[in-house]
Amino acid sequence: VYDQQYFNKLLKDMVEIPSVSQNERRMAEYIANALDDIGIEPEMQHLQDESYNVIGRIKGGSGPTILLGGHLDTVAPAPGWKHDYGTATHEAGRIYGLGAGDMKGGLAAQLTVLKRFARGGSVPSGNIIFVGLADEERYSIGANMLSKREDIGADFAILGEPHFNEIVIGSTGKILLELVVKGKSGHAALPETGVNAIECMVRLLYEVDSKYRKLYTEGKLASHCTLKIDSCYKGYGLNIPAECHALVNKQLYIGESDQGFIENIKGIFSQVCPEAKLEVAHRMPFYPSYSIDPAHPLLKKLAAVAEKHLKKPIPLKINQSVSDGNILYNSLGIPTVLFGPLGVDFHKPEEYLVAATVEPYIEALYEFLSG
Ligand SMILES: [Zn+2]
Repeated sequence: VYDQQYFNKLLKDMVEIPSVSQNERRMAEYIANALDDIGIEPEMQHLQDESYNVIGRIKGGSGPTILLGGHLDTVAPAPGWKHDYGTATHEAGRIYGLGAGDMKGGLAAQLTVLKRFARGGSVPSGNIIFVGLADEERYSIGANMLSKREDIGADFAILGEPHFNEIVIGSTGKILLELVVKGKSGHAALPETGVNAIECMVRLLYEVDSKYRKLYTEGKLASHCTLKIDSCYKGYGLNIPAECHALVNKQLYIGESDQGFIENIKGIFSQVCPEAKLEVAHRMPFYPSYSIDPAHPLLKKLAAVAEKHLKKPIPLKINQSVSDGNILYNSLGIPTVLFGPLGVDFHKPEEYLVAATVEPYIEALYEFLSG
């Protein structure tokens, strides 16, 4: 039976622990203690400064290994809160608080399921790895550091993000590219003595926009946006600028690759500025898109138990924003879905968790993991 007291205590404590991205140490320690309390040996993974992941492993039967968990961090509180964002306030079926929906409610619900296995003496059908990951709301450094480990692998992952009315089975991606044009310096009064890197960059960006804007408006490729141009100008001097940097964001549809975009940029550059050099490098954030097979047997099993306990059809959905799922899928090859108790207005003031979704979520997850 659903241990509501335990869930409420976890969520209350977690909302009271501030954990804006890059400051997840106390949240990681809290979850490590919670795992320890229910007999699961915790491990902390240090990322940098005050940023930590936390990992726990539960021994199960011979069934598939399932990765559970989600992110420890929240965004900074948005202005306009009426409730105290640092307290879990129960009111008219809602639990208000920063991170209550996204996604301390999901973490607390999953931990409540793990406690039932640990204390109830029942064994999950396969091994479970629980992960609390840092920095999801920024660059997903936590998921990227987890992916570098050789001892992390699973057949399927359920991140308890606040999607309850649907199961998210994939997401668009996004990349940030730094373009560096290298021209040739010379006397600025005699432009023919050098190659102006700024003018080459302008020609390149104009051509890229002309081509890609059209593909975006026709729905063929996702959007792009130039965020910054920097010429390394250091004060007056009649020198032809020899170097120019730009930052370009590119959203990626499912199946749209970063390499294709980069190759096309290079191709355009060699046409518009053959006398200069172009270098393209990835910068953080870097999230390739992904989607899992809608017919995956573990997804079908999850959808079936979810429909049973939520008592309604559960559509599968491709998300329009990135998550740690993009990293777990692309770096570790784990088919990853987002499914958790329902959060509303996250990343906004007055974020809340819908209390009535906690019990059916816990029951569905428990049945899924039981085999
Ligand atoms: Zn989230």
